[in-house]
Amino acid sequence: MDKFKDECGVFGIFGHPEAANMTYLGLYALQHRGQESAGIAASDREEVRVSIGMGHVADVFNTDVLSRLPGDMSCGHVRYSTAGESRLSNAQPFLIDCAHGQIGICHNGNLVNAGELREELVRQGSIFQSTSDTEVVLHLYARSKAARVEDALVESITQIQGAFSFVLMTKDRLIAVRDPHGFRPLALGRLGAAYVVCSETCAMDLIGATYVRDVDPGEVVVISAAGLRSIKPFPAAPLAHCVFEHVYFARPDSYVFGRSVNEVRTNLGRILAREQRVDADVVVPVPDSGVCAAMGFADEAGLPLRMGLIRNHYVGRTFIQPQSAIRDFGVKVKLNPVRSILEGKRVILVDDSIVRGTTSRKIVGMVRAAGASEVHVRISCPPTISPCFYGIDTPRRSELIAATHTLDEVRDFLEADSLGYLSHEGLMTAVGTGRTGYCSSCYTGQYPVEFPRDEKSYLQLALKLDKESIPR
Ligand code: SF4
Repeated sequence: MDKFKDECGVFGIFGHPEAANMTYLGLYALQHRGQESAGIAASDREEVRVSIGMGHVADVFNTDVLSRLPGDMSCGHVRYSTAGESRLSNAQPFLIDCAHGQIGICHNGNLVNAGELREELVRQGSIFQSTSDTEVVLHLYARSKAARVEDALVESITQIQGAFSFVLMTKDRLIAVRDPHGFRPLALGRLGAAYVVCSETCAMDLIGATYVRDVDPGEVVVISAAGLRSIKPFPAAPLAHCVFEHVYFARPDSYVFGRSVNEVRTNLGRILAREQRVDADVVVPVPDSGVCAAMGFADEAGLPLRMGLIRNHYVGRTFIQPQSAIRDFGVKVKLNPVRSILEGKRVILVDDSIVRGTTSRKIVGMVRAAGASEVHVRISCPPTISPCFYGIDTPRRSELIAATHTLDEVRDFLEADSLGYLSHEGLMTAVGTGRTGYCSSCYTGQYPVEFPRDEKSYLQLALKLDKESIPR
């Protein structure tokens, strides 16, 4: 499907006798955030051991593998590659042994100055094992002359810029770190006497943990036998929570940035219905991501909500295409229209975003072919006009249909009867903060964290943006 790609999910637990098993379950709940690789590290306070593999959590781990990860502390990661290729050497947790002892790291986000730092480190003799931006943090940490683990860590993380929610683990400490802008979510909870940190609260629900609070933007939380200690090493910075977590990435049963994703997403649909009214008979979501917004839309518009498109949840990542061409096979294998709902109806089709427009066009065609008399497309976010540099995989700017086409041109391309997006004001009203506190760069092209001007970072920008639209 033509979507921005999910990023990564992180999980950590301290003080639980089945720590690795709990991490496995936590990663299961976070699987939607990354499906390329999965990994778990665990410590019995003597040694940190790690197991990683390519594929889904269920493919990588079984009872045998988990039994080789003893201890009451653990952290884990599910990955979709946003920086660095998809290969085993880039799978996390990364584990190193250095002068400060063993340390494992799990990262959600993207460091915008990793290229610059890496070049400098390589010049000074560092040898990198992966192409991931995360490894830079470990090199900075290993080179620190600070005597204490926390001080060495603070020294390294205060040199990096961009989006980072980290869960790190030494043999006797679990450490959670969130960048000062708070791009990516990171929640803190309790499971009996144990502490839990994770990208989304849905991971706590599965293991019966209770959400306590978010790790604050710019906070380092150190959990050890002595309890929980909070350090705030970064200067205050403007908040830039990723609004797309609410629009699409996070699971609707999660709380991120202190708000229910379901509630925000339903509000997006309600406001969209007020802003983009149209006479119609039925509201149909594009499953699954369009469902919450469609519910809000239908409620507000006083129209029936019907599941006019059914998603096949059992399609794997790849499937064998037939020799003979079947039109729009890739979409058809995942979605199928329900003729009895669509036939003769004026349909409002609600989706969360349009990226290139190619999939949306096929879905509109599919609904029309099933007998809809009109198809009105409504999108629960503003037009996506700029790529992301903070941990989300997006196509380059020239491939984003809304960046290169007018509203009417996009509508014509989709072959829809009408097209309406949520306004930026509507989006900010739904998340409930006015215009502050959130990153919405993919809708505005205004980036909250400046990009370094070294050649590698510039190349990364130039690849994704048209050169003339590189932010100053
Ligand atoms: S650019 Fe978009 S996807 Fe990236 S962090 Fe900002 S809001 Fe999220």
